[in-house]
Amino acid sequence: MKYAKWMENTGESFIGEMLKAAQNPDMISFAGGLPAHELFPDKVLKHSFQRVFEEQGKSALQYAQTAGHPPLREWLAKQHTRNGKSAKMENVVVTTGSQQGLSLLAQTFLDPGDVVFLEMPTYLGAIQAFQAFRAQFRMIPCDDQGIIPEELEKMLGEVTPKFLYLIPNYQNPTGKVMGLARRLQLLRVAQIYNLMIVEDNPYGELRFEGEALPNLVDLGENVIYLGTFSKVLAPGLRVGYVIADEDIVDHLCQTKEGVDLHSNNLTQRAVLEFLKEGVLPDHIQTLRTVYKERRQAMVESIGKHLGDEVEMIVPSGGLFLWARFKNIANSFDYVEKTIRQNVLYVPGALFYTDQRVTSEVRLNYSCSTPEVIEEGVQRLARAILGQAST
Ligand code: PMP
Repeated sequence: MKYAKWMENTGESFIGEMLKAAQNPDMISFAGGLPAHELFPDKVLKHSFQRVFEEQGKSALQYAQTAGHPPLREWLAKQHTRNGKSAKMENVVVTTGSQQGLSLLAQTFLDPGDVVFLEMPTYLGAIQAFQAFRAQFRMIPCDDQGIIPEELEKMLGEVTPKFLYLIPNYQNPTGKVMGLARRLQLLRVAQIYNLMIVEDNPYGELRFEGEALPNLVDLGENVIYLGTFSKVLAPGLRVGYVIADEDIVDHLCQTKEGVDLHSNNLTQRAVLEFLKEGVLPDHIQTLRTVYKERRQAMVESIGKHLGDEVEMIVPSGGLFLWARFKNIANSFDYVEKTIRQNVLYVPGALFYTDQRVTSEVRLNYSCSTPEVIEEGVQRLARAILGQAST
């Protein structure tokens, strides 16, 4: 056989199909997780890149350290505490997006057949990254705050996982937030069972309502934290990072050496220049305002056009709204129909590791204006309810 065995189970890439469909200029896509490109701070970034070329051009074009550009690692360390203590540069490895962080963790920790615990449902890209290293999955039942500690304990009584992967803030795909008490409860369970937690936090800064909550990595031990500039700055930069024990950072670097030697040196330096400009907090404020408006538009349009047909979780931050159609069985069945109406969503089944049938869907609101969202939801209603709805 030509390809590795695990590729047999990957099937056709649904995401690939979606991306192809999204090329159609008439398509309204609620399917991706794209930030609003019109808000990218491209002018400031251009100057950041220019300054790197002018002041450190030669060294920015040279091979560099696997763990990342040291001053960027320093800057990132200053932003984080680990179990109440400041992080050090030695706790940071810069990655090519947090997606690479997921992949490096899988490659570094998983032997074929090792078990990984996941929230139910969870980020498709994490499932894919872990699958490539032959993980087996157990999804832990969740309530409105995420993983239910008693369910976690029950599962821990049955099988020992290598780690638990979770997204405490504005979860992908559900938009849920884990409250402080729940965070502490989970950490207590993790400590009892010596369970390693992988905390993925791409959306934490995109908060529309409520108080900022401490990260799990700030509150307890045995947590590996994944961060990224994709959602607060620009995903095309591909700059993310992992914060962990020094020993874990060293092992991740060993893995990373074999993968790409190091992340893009020029871009890391440009991101640092951008950070030094001090404009990121204001930019994040703009993102919060605009995304909140778009979230509101989507909630209102759904209420207007899908009304009693849908049960939704109204997110208080992030990029996604999770909804369940009450009167259809399988949201996969409606993909073709909605494509014909020029609107895209992601069927909920993709975020589960079992082969379940579900009427849930994930809808993204960050990259469409309120007017486009209104039109898109109308199309969705037409496709799914089979009638014009106004
Ligand atoms: N984790 C989660 C939960 C995500 O939603 C994403 C992107 N959609 C990533 C990780 C990967 O982000 P990036 O590689 O761009 O940092």
